[in-house]
Amino acid sequence: MSFESGMTHGRGLFGSETGITHECGLFGIWGRSEAARLVYYGLHSLQHRGQDAAGIVVKNGETLSRYKGAGLLTDVFSENVLSQMKGSAAIGHVLYSIGDPEYHNAIQPLLFHFEKSSLAVCQNGAYVNAKSLRKTLENYGSIFQTKCNSEILAHIIRRSRLVTFAESVKRSLSQVHGGFAILMMTQEGLFAARDSRGLRPLVLGKICDEKHGDSYVISSETCALDTVSAKYLRDIEPGEVVFINNDGISSEYFTSDRELRVCGMEYIYIARPDSNLQGVNVHTSRKNAGRIIAQESPTQADIVIASPDTGISAAIGYAEAMRIPYEIGVIKSRYIGRTFISPTQELREQGVKMKLSAVRSIIDGKSVILVDDSIVRGTTMKHMATLLREAGAREVHVKVASPLFRHQCFYGIGLPASHKLISHKKTEAQIAKSLGMDSISCISEKGLADAIGIPDSGKCRGLCLACLNGDYPTHLQDFAGDNVRE
Ligand code: SF4
Repeated sequence: MSFESGMTHGRGLFGSETGITHECGLFGIWGRSEAARLVYYGLHSLQHRGQDAAGIVVKNGETLSRYKGAGLLTDVFSENVLSQMKGSAAIGHVLYSIGDPEYHNAIQPLLFHFEKSSLAVCQNGAYVNAKSLRKTLENYGSIFQTKCNSEILAHIIRRSRLVTFAESVKRSLSQVHGGFAILMMTQEGLFAARDSRGLRPLVLGKICDEKHGDSYVISSETCALDTVSAKYLRDIEPGEVVFINNDGISSEYFTSDRELRVCGMEYIYIARPDSNLQGVNVHTSRKNAGRIIAQESPTQADIVIASPDTGISAAIGYAEAMRIPYEIGVIKSRYIGRTFISPTQELREQGVKMKLSAVRSIIDGKSVILVDDSIVRGTTMKHMATLLREAGAREVHVKVASPLFRHQCFYGIGLPASHKLISHKKTEAQIAKSLGMDSISCISEKGLADAIGIPDSGKCRGLCLACLNGDYPTHLQDFAGDNVRE
């Protein structure tokens, strides 16, 4: 293994498919010794956002060097590797491949070397005009080495050739559309940008140090700031690009078409409960959802249990509101990844079987309320029904802390196509029957928006809920016509 060309492949790779959409985690820091190690710590707190691969680029003097590989962060970075990654600035990325067979090709950050400079780029999310941009760039002679959206941006920046690099970055960002958070680093500084709707999260923090001076940190979620003792300053705004260098920090908007529409799935499922997005704590929003479900569709039972882990907060909210005891009824193995994105149905079902087991002494003879964050394909829920019945549950009523998913996401979250969703042309009663549950009730769309309650959020409550209601907050460009409403 070596740096720059250093690739470890800690996990097996799959067959072939096209279309890269990634849900990922980003972390960067400027102006701090042991920067790569701090980025490693930050990424560790963001591991839930991507478990397939990880990479870090570090700046040491005028040299940018990279180390990356497939697998969990701890698989990729040994103490020996980290101790060699000296430098005062670094950016890093954890990748969720969403079943992409060629994900090894998309491990980020990407690193480009030009005649007098280098550029490292990584991102979370997807462009809705990636296909047409790529085609145009190829027509102008660009040769792509990866399917990453990050590479498209790098090519656009390289072709811009405006007076300053910062101007080129700003102009280039205005040409990519969709849902994205981006981190870039050159020898001169670090850039952090968020799409014009703020779909993908990105926050700014600061490590205050009287002895060594202050340094700025960028992270996908606030939970990673605590890990490096950074103070939360603010969320990066929709359409904003922040530039950090040795002189400090500056910021500009790269577009005037800006509106806050944070991805609702971040609150429902993706983000860690201890993170705050747009000033709203994720655990609190999920707990509120549980309380609102209790108002919208109250059902009495002996106990409330959660589908671990992302159903726990809502289950507590429901149990408190209904005054029903909350119990640990299902245990989840810590060592199996999330299953709704596994590449085949067979693998997903096997993964679910290995992941969950019921606590018979708690479940036996009881009527049970099972609270989950969402139902996507229904694989987990179906297995849960079998588990709970076999453990002796008399009745199982499901409460879901999100409305049913009915549409695709074009902004980087790997939801299945509409016809593969459990909700496809089915009512809640039909879904309950097909999954072997006594009933299923989902929170309403209004209830979910109330539960999240982004302050001063204006139109659409500051949220994208397009996979629930088909109201996409941007033009879909290359995907126009794909947003089937059924
Ligand atoms: Fe998030 Fe759904 Fe919007 Fe995609 S469509 S950004 S998953 S809320």
